[in-house]
Amino acid sequence: MKTYKDSRCKLSLVVAWLVLLAAAGTAAAQKQAVDTGSRGRLSDQLLKTYLSNEQLAAWIDEFVDKCSSISRKFSIGKSVQGLDLWGIELSDKPGVEEAEPKFKYIANMHGDEPSGRMLLPMLAEWLCANNGKDARATRLLRDAHLFIIPTLNPDGFALHRRANSKNIDINRNFPDPIIYKGRDLSKPLDTAAPETIAIMNFTRNGHFTASANLHEGAIVGGAGGGLAFVCVWGGVNITC
Ligand SMILES: [Zn+2]
Repeated sequence: MKTYKDSRCKLSLVVAWLVLLAAAGTAAAQKQAVDTGSRGRLSDQLLKTYLSNEQLAAWIDEFVDKCSSISRKFSIGKSVQGLDLWGIELSDKPGVEEAEPKFKYIANMHGDEPSGRMLLPMLAEWLCANNGKDARATRLLRDAHLFIIPTLNPDGFALHRRANSKNIDINRNFPDPIIYKGRDLSKPLDTAAPETIAIMNFTRNGHFTASANLHEGAIVGGAGGGLAFVCVWGGVNITC
């Protein structure tokens, strides 16, 4: 594992996050192995295939209906093609402002890096299935608010490519503090895509304690500003 500009604290956060994802995957696999009477639910397909944008939106509805006491659906805006950028808040008091840490998880910012768009739903399923049963799941829901956005680039996913449908790489579409030194970095660039503007507004208004952005290709790089880039799959010489 290689880290960049990383503190031990941030590394610990990333490792804890990956452990949590692994636990979610394990729990989902165990659930699937014994859950033979519920074939057909989208939640049972999370480990078998990548859900389409339509299926992912339907899974969100299925999830917030099934786990209504610990979840709330929201949209941060729309993609170039007009698809909602859906998210789910996970907490024992979803929608309520509490004096608790808020964590934001974004996936599939690059359309051709899809594993995070399945891992985040699996995390949600694990939390719902283990609330009141597993101490860690129960504490996360009781003492924090998690905000997951499984795909920030549904258009790119549908097109099987990194950029959005206007060929804008969302991850290179933010005001870079080095290139734009002295600029108001809270303001989107003139060339900002709607997906970029949506996540900037959501981040600025959310006052999050920490965030993770799931990519693929390289390994793990911790960055400043409370943002960690987690590249899920192994691989070399691929920029996430
Ligand atoms: Zn990426």
